Amino acid sequence: MTTADDRMIALIAHDQKKPDMIAWARRHRAVLSRHALVATGTTGSLLKADMPELDISLMKSGPLGGDQQIGALIVEGRIGLMVFLVDPLSPHPHDVDVKALTRLAVVYDVPMACNLATADRLIAGF
Ligand code: PGA
Repeated sequence: MTTADDRMIALIAHDQKKPDMIAWARRHRAVLSRHALVATGTTGSLLKADMPELDISLMKSGPLGGDQQIGALIVEGRIGLMVFLVDPLSPHPHDVDVKALTRLAVVYDVPMACNLATADRLIAGF
């Protein structure tokens, strides 16, 4: 049986939230370093540059399909936790993908944090 611990943690941040994602990952570096991570292209590249020890699989950039790739991993039961720091104050060309991804997290009952307060609580229990 798949347990939450052997599934991947998905990390995605909209552009205005990328500094928050880096700061959050630094705070939780010890926990994150014990798990396989998957991230959209730009978010993951920034995290890797900052914390090279993290095991991060890079998907395409979000607007080029990365959100959908992570959605497919959810469907396959490979994501145990998703941190998706959304920017509610900017328009996004791939808004439909964002909606589809968050919908799949709900459908498959994947714990999902869309802001830092929730992300802090969820990672503490992972
Ligand atoms: P990015 O994608 O990490 O490639 O910027 C995130 C997104 O906007 O979905």
